Amino acid sequence: MLRKKERGQLIVLSGPSGVGKSTVIAELLGRRKDIYFSVSYTTRQPRTGEQDGVNYNFVTREEFRRMIDRNELLEYAEYVEHFYGTSLKAIQDRLEAGIDVLLDIEVQGAAKVKARCPEALFIFIIPPSYEELSRRLHRRNTDSEEVIAGRLEKARVEFREVPQYDYLVINDHVSSAVGEIEAILTAAACRVENRRQLLAQFA
Ligand code: ADP
Ligand code: 5GP
Repeated sequence: MLRKKERGQLIVLSGPSGVGKSTVIAELLGRRKDIYFSVSYTTRQPRTGEQDGVNYNFVTREEFRRMIDRNELLEYAEYVEHFYGTSLKAIQDRLEAGIDVLLDIEVQGAAKVKARCPEALFIFIIPPSYEELSRRLHRRNTDSEEVIAGRLEKARVEFREVPQYDYLVINDHVSSAVGEIEAILTAAACRVENRRQLLAQFA
């Protein structure tokens, strides 16, 4: 008999701002209802259309500082003048219940997760070109020219971290990017260490 997973798979997705992470994640979560998306805490202002508790938990710098002091964050980082962090408890409870957890975090945070949870899957998502990244940031129409320039500059630094990741996904078309991520998740689920319980009956 197939037993439920003992522990959920932690999945880390990173990529430069504007590459399409939120878009790809929305499509992935639509296809895979069994994945829990970790809603991060941030000190940045909500963009038009973003909802508190859905896209992010929007908090003040003081609230964020308190979470750090109380060791409530698995990881956190400062990104273009704002803080972003992952709640430890929210993801720990799910993983222990056998539920897969997806984090959308930048490269410094991903490095911290790798140090604490080396068994996590690390996926980096890139645009088809740098010019397309710039076009997407402009087309999204949510950030000032100055913020966009900062994010494009940051992207150059982030691309250097790609070798630390396990998988590279290209977001040319959303559906194929999501298809690649699903393929990665399927391969990970088939790993021997994730299927040990299936072997018990043959011992
Ligand atoms: P991120 O979460 O990585 O910052 P978003 O998901 O907000 O990026 O996407 C940035 C912009 O690019 C949005 O306007 C989105 O509609 C658009 N976008 C996302 N994926 C694609 C794609 N494959 N092709 C064209 N535009 C895309
Ligand atoms: P944005 O402001 O565009 O939503 O996000 C900016 C960057 O912060 C993105 O690269 C996103 O992946 C990252 N990010 C979002 N949540 C977290 C988090 O909890 N921790 C870390 N380290 N980065 C995050």
